[in-house]
Amino acid sequence: MTYNKFIRGVKVTEDLLRELSDDGRTHVLHLKDHQGKQYLAHFETRQGDIIVVPEAKFLEHRCPHCGGRIRITSKGYWCEHAMGKHPSCKFHCNGILSHRFIMPAEVEAWLSGHPTILDGCYNSLGKIFSAILTEDKQHGMSLTSVIGRCPLCGGQVMVSPVAFNCCQRDGELEPYHLSLWRHVKGHAVTLDELNELLADGITSHEVILNDENGTLSKAFLRLSDDKKRIIPAYAPVTVN
Ligand SMILES: [Zn+2]
Ligand SMILES: [Zn+2]
Repeated sequence: MTYNKFIRGVKVTEDLLRELSDDGRTHVLHLKDHQGKQYLAHFETRQGDIIVVPEAKFLEHRCPHCGGRIRITSKGYWCEHAMGKHPSCKFHCNGILSHRFIMPAEVEAWLSGHPTILDGCYNSLGKIFSAILTEDKQHGMSLTSVIGRCPLCGGQVMVSPVAFNCCQRDGELEPYHLSLWRHVKGHAVTLDELNELLADGITSHEVILNDENGTLSKAFLRLSDDKKRIIPAYAPVTVN
């Protein structure tokens, strides 16, 4: 059978028809719209007809509210049910927050429940700050620098470009209660590790640390007794 037809500038060849009958869809094709602009799409068969399905990119994780797919657009990340004329969901994350481009992997990390620290954000005064993603009921996703609770006073711990700080001081000229460098022997402390340190004083997983002469070691991380530093807790050597 010959199928002498073009769809949006693409000839429907026998090879394409074979793909349709074998897989229900074709590979990605370069089609042309009415103005001649090229776009990416594939053909599918639906009730015997060939239909054009434009390509789109989605995040791996789904919408936390409705389970819809989250589409990557030029403006950011939109639940597929938050798009179109009659959206039934509101979930979205703008692609730029506080002058900071939000990478797909960073939205994925938040959706997985393990947010990463975003450095290089700028506030309206042009001051650089670090933050994590957080959901805000009115505007969708936004940024917050508050990442935990201080084990000494229960106050808020904030992330800065270099440290995790409790914002409370014992007196005006006193240092912060808690000021922990974000890097320990070449290891960038993750938010999950910090939360374990604040709650339990020690991490549950070992990390690889780098010494001054470049040798690598494995250690848990713990808070120092004065709670001023994050230090390695080397696992005891067991001798049989
Ligand atoms: Zn949704
Ligand atoms: Zn404190």
